[in-house]
Amino acid sequence: MSEERVKYTLSEDQIPTHWVNLLVDLPGDPLPPLHPGTLQPVGPDDLSPIFPMGLIMQEVSSEPQVEIPEAVREVYKLWRPTPLLRARRLERALDTPAHIYYKYEGVSPAGSHKPNTAVVQAYENAQAGIRRLATETGAGQWGSALAFACSLFGLECEVFMVGSSYDQKPYRRSMMETWGATVHRSPSELTAAGRANAAHPTGSLGIAISEAVEVAAGREDTNYSLGSVLNHVCLHQTVIGQEAAAQMALAGEAPNIVIGCVGGGSNFAGLAFPFVREVLGGAARTKFLAAEPAACPTLTRGAYRYDFGDTAGLTPLMPMYTLGHDFVPPPVHAGGLRYHGDSPLLCGLVRGGVVQARAYGQNDAFAAAVQFARCEGIIPGPEPSHAIKAAIDEALAAREAGEPRVILFGLSGHGHFDLSAYDAFLSGQLEDPEFSEADMEAALERLPDAPAIA
Ligand SMILES: *Cc1c(COP(=O)(O)O)cnc(C)c1O
Repeated sequence: MSEERVKYTLSEDQIPTHWVNLLVDLPGDPLPPLHPGTLQPVGPDDLSPIFPMGLIMQEVSSEPQVEIPEAVREVYKLWRPTPLLRARRLERALDTPAHIYYKYEGVSPAGSHKPNTAVVQAYENAQAGIRRLATETGAGQWGSALAFACSLFGLECEVFMVGSSYDQKPYRRSMMETWGATVHRSPSELTAAGRANAAHPTGSLGIAISEAVEVAAGREDTNYSLGSVLNHVCLHQTVIGQEAAAQMALAGEAPNIVIGCVGGGSNFAGLAFPFVREVLGGAARTKFLAAEPAACPTLTRGAYRYDFGDTAGLTPLMPMYTLGHDFVPPPVHAGGLRYHGDSPLLCGLVRGGVVQARAYGQNDAFAAAVQFARCEGIIPGPEPSHAIKAAIDEALAAREAGEPRVILFGLSGHGHFDLSAYDAFLSGQLEDPEFSEADMEAALERLPDAPAIA
């Protein structure tokens, strides 16, 4: 056997003790979320009807590090620390001098990074005496992560699942139901927001969020839970990047570029933010690349404006790159990337030039995924396939330049529930919907009245 090491693993006592709060590192005062009615900054009390105070305090925390509760670290042991692997076979196939590493979050019970935050959210709500959580899910990963987390802390879980995914991924629903959740196809008949969107039968994350927020706001014993975008969600995910930094140190390397796919920004934030802190502090010069779908190109084509997080306009207005809150993205298979906006923290970094963004068509992403699977074995989810495409492009650029660059990308989940999409790709049936200029202009006209961002 050669001495070439492939897997870098940590022990359970190396699970991080704190999360990295990047909010405090950003230059200037953060732009606050605004109340949709008054356009005044939203305070903790505005959020308390649907979130527990423990999470609200994390959302606005000014501490550089936030301690991880012991009960959460206990649960993290079920799958953390996750492995870091060096993609040596892919490197050879690409004939590149680049070193390619990937952090694999598909080993969690739900098969993605999402349980990293779901467990915290279920824990904090249970501590606050809440009995039930309502949420939305796109491809089904968030719903299954929250269903799993609720089962650990004795909470009921009600999930509004985007219609197109509900039809494409019946087994994600079975998974949620196995963990005890109730699943509705969105748009549903159960809420005003659902009934108002009956004309969009494929649904969207924005519509499903409106439905879940409506249910949570209407019931005392029920809170809402969001799987991405918000500061506290990005915060929880930073266990990924902290572990990855320790694992890269085991490999005796540091990444020149960190790559992740972006739906709402949480897995990207989780991997990148601990490295971004080093860069903002002047201790490193790492580059960062966010990969998104061409059919929902928020960071590369969106407008940097205040917009709602949901379709019905129930959430606070957030400063972000947006395609318009009522944009219904085409039903591409990377369901987890079909969101009209992105994490304000990540958008601020893109705006500030710290993070670059690139958009890829789904056929290119699947071609990269298949190449990866045939070298490395793991069949990636359609979402991280965008990151794989970006990593392969970077490795080929390193070959052109003749430089042994070190590439780290996030493999945010496996694709075992996405095989119908692989079928479509392998039989040449996969479409490549693009976002048109007309789509963008129409969306801009419907943005809410809110202060412009300088
Ligand atoms: C949900 C999901 C995403 C997109 O969400 P982010 O918040 O941007 O991370 C990406 N990959 C997988 C596997 C997902 O489940």
